[in-house]
Amino acid sequence: MTDTIFGKIIRREIPANIVYEDDEVLGFKDIAPQAPVHVLFIPKNDVIPTLDDLQPSQAHLVGKLALAAAEYARREGFAQNGYRIVMNCREDAGQTVFHIHLHLLAGAPLGHFGAA
Ligand code: 5GP
Repeated sequence: MTDTIFGKIIRREIPANIVYEDDEVLGFKDIAPQAPVHVLFIPKNDVIPTLDDLQPSQAHLVGKLALAAAEYARREGFAQNGYRIVMNCREDAGQTVFHIHLHLLAGAPLGHFGAA
């Protein structure tokens, strides 16, 4: 199992505010939220440091992360208002934890990503 901070969260060695769990995905609130809703979704059973390390045989996991985020958004009642999902890959994107994760951001107008 991975030795990142997220591995410790998966193994319940450090606390996290877990809001979603299924056989393959764990979702928990970001410790430093960048929006009113900021949840991280991670694969539980696979050690994949970055999106660039994802193998074709693991492609379904990214879909599972997205489906988990969408289910959480529906369950929490903000799916209709909208949300953003983000995956940071390596240095230029500011990735700090090398266990792939999908950020779910919501709860307020987020601004148009990519606007000048
Ligand atoms: P990255 O920058 O790698 O895409 O995102 C990593 C995220 O993990 C950051 O938003 C950061 O706030 C969050 N994070 C780092 N350490 C912890 C932790 O121990 N617990 C939780 N819940 N989030 C963490």
